Amino acid sequence: MNRAESSEIGNYLQSLGLEQVRTAREADMVILNTCVVRQNAEDKVIGMLGYLKGIKREKPDMRIALTGCFIDSDISQLKTQYPYVNHFFKPGDRINFEDWMCSEAIDSSMRNLNVTIHSTAPVSGYIPIIQGCNNYCSYCIVPYRRGPERSRPPDEILNQAAELVANGAREIVLLGQNVNAYGKDLDPSTDLASLLHQLNELRGLIRIRFLTNHPKDMNHELIKAMLSLNKVCHHICLPLQAGDDQILKSMNRHYTLDDYRSLVNRILDSIPDIALSTDIIVGFPGESESQYFNTYKAIADIHFDVVHVAAYSPRTGTFASKYLPDDVPYDIKLQRLHDIEDLQTTILSKINQKQIGDTVEILVEGKKSLKWYGRTNSDKLVFFTDPSDHKGKIVKVNVESASPWALQGTPVS
Ligand code: SAH
Ligand code: SF4
Repeated sequence: MNRAESSEIGNYLQSLGLEQVRTAREADMVILNTCVVRQNAEDKVIGMLGYLKGIKREKPDMRIALTGCFIDSDISQLKTQYPYVNHFFKPGDRINFEDWMCSEAIDSSMRNLNVTIHSTAPVSGYIPIIQGCNNYCSYCIVPYRRGPERSRPPDEILNQAAELVANGAREIVLLGQNVNAYGKDLDPSTDLASLLHQLNELRGLIRIRFLTNHPKDMNHELIKAMLSLNKVCHHICLPLQAGDDQILKSMNRHYTLDDYRSLVNRILDSIPDIALSTDIIVGFPGESESQYFNTYKAIADIHFDVVHVAAYSPRTGTFASKYLPDDVPYDIKLQRLHDIEDLQTTILSKINQKQIGDTVEILVEGKKSLKWYGRTNSDKLVFFTDPSDHKGKIVKVNVESASPWALQGTPVS
């Protein structure tokens, strides 16, 4: 979500005539888009602010704007704490940012800069479709910082998708904290399945992905749409968070492990080649060894294609940080995190080894150290070498080797 918002801000600044530079030291203006989902992310923001403060001492004219989830409701306190930051705006509040930019442009030479609008989009373009979250999982700061769910009207999304495709995008990734809630708040109301139907008609678009799905809100219509629409990838992000029912309850997730498993089975019955990604938190308050083991077993049984695992980090203001003591020692959290990562590496090497000898279709995104790279429909990263230009094209690759993280092969004609 932050990447999508940063790139929208970047496009807007380029449309005003500003140019992107490589380092903060070279910049006249720095926009810091922040994440505070865990303490280590917040620490990075604080570190970066200290770094920018040093640069600004030498370059007092440099403008700094701060956005993202670091912004809480008390902006006046942030102003006192970080007086060298010129402007604070809430995540996604483009109007506020654009107003500030207009007022800045009046007293600076910005208007006189040459206009250089770059009109090439990346092969895979992000589109936020719903902002905020109403779920209040007990550990999560997102609803406090991003507010309640607000869907964007379908027309706006379709126009943005058409514009991205016209500028070279071939894949669209629809984003939201809970994309399954899309459209419920609109008048007339709509849903993700019907948005997918409309996007599937877009000429020039090859693939559509969406994330993240809350398991409690997955519905049959969406599964049907994934099955029937040729552009929608067979890949779904379905965060489990924990495999123990008591922990799930105190996380306020509104499903049990059995509910989750039967949902996965239902999806697999309809779409047998579905790739599943998930998020896991270890060391949640009160998580005993056996409760943790229930999560470990669930991961061993379900065979996810991607597992993002994080150690629980108390976030001020959340239910868990107020009422549930952070009682799992840090070294145990880390041990659990590493054990799950090791388990997942073993699972992935088995899944990926099975692909050796297969021919996979990839959408090529670009080049990294002389190799073309792209992703399969199921979101597997594939590398190959070839002299021709393949960017933005579908290429069939014969898989010759596999690591837990990527496949390598040669293109077949
Ligand atoms: N809306 C998505 C995820 C948003 S946050 C969902 O419902 O899954 C991204 C991930 O960060 C979460 O899935 C969770 O695994 C992790 N996360 C959120 N808050 C956390 C916390 N306090 N400590 C550790 N991990 C956290
Ligand atoms: Fe956070 Fe839960 Fe909302 Fe995801 S669904 S953003 S984890 S509150």
